[in-house]
Amino acid sequence: SKIGIDAGGTLIKVAYTENESAGYRSFRSRDMDEAAAWIENDFDHPSICITGGKSKVLASKLHTSAMTVVEFDATMKGIDFLAHEQERTLGDGYLFVNVGTGTSIHYVIDGRQERVGGSGIGGGTLLGLAYLLTGMRDYDTIVQTAGDGDRGQVDLKVRDIFEGALPPISGDLTASNFGKTEMMPGRTPANADILASLIGLIGEVVVTVSTNMAAHNNADAIVYIGSSLRSNPLLQETIETYTKLAGKTPIFLDNGAYSGAVGALLSL
Ligand code: ATP
Ligand code: MG
Repeated sequence: SKIGIDAGGTLIKVAYTENESAGYRSFRSRDMDEAAAWIENDFDHPSICITGGKSKVLASKLHTSAMTVVEFDATMKGIDFLAHEQERTLGDGYLFVNVGTGTSIHYVIDGRQERVGGSGIGGGTLLGLAYLLTGMRDYDTIVQTAGDGDRGQVDLKVRDIFEGALPPISGDLTASNFGKTEMMPGRTPANADILASLIGLIGEVVVTVSTNMAAHNNADAIVYIGSSLRSNPLLQETIETYTKLAGKTPIFLDNGAYSGAVGALLSL
């Protein structure tokens, strides 16, 4: 069997092939011992390749010797594989944006990637601010609660400013994230509304930085990956809508969160 692992700051992503079957599994990085035990016990003489910021720590916990590879190259390889598998054309010269704990932006051309930018706004920001604002800690609870929220209670839209007048840009755009301050002292928004706005803020920042980078590099397609998009339709929708507004083509791959792990597996 072959095992590819992307050991990130928050999650350990594992992609494996055994006989004819293949699968994916993830663990919290803080549960690294559990991940290591599963890898050691569930596979018979596996070949292992690890990437990601915590690859060295994880490798040191395994009795089986493991290869390590450079994360950005592995991620590119994984994206290429998944795109082919899902019959998605990325074209020549595309951007990939890894929305992980933080966000990293890469330009791919001629089979090579170059890191062109990034932002500290990412999945960690969602977890951290969600906790500080609402006290919630569980990822799935946060994302599900946000699904019922109304950003209109928290964010100021362009049309809120241009009362009665015709705005020079779409009234539907966000004028100020979390900016509906006039209403706040008397009526604190519900947790659902706050979390919906938080996801909106993260999505809009990620898109603004990414589409500017795409324009700068003359790229059309932007592939968004990373576990921050997992089970989070609100973030995906925000990213999709705003990327299209900026005239670029957003692409989401099934199992995109496992791109690094798949690339590590393919390096074996
Ligand atoms: P980095 O690449 O920046 O080192 P990472 O590889 O660990 O970090 P990802 O796994 O791509 O990052 O994404 C982590 C984010 O995914 C979290 O910050 C959170 O927003 C989201 N997430 C999705 N599922 C979970 C989960 N079960 N538990 C915690 N966070 C989750
Ligand atoms: Mg990562």
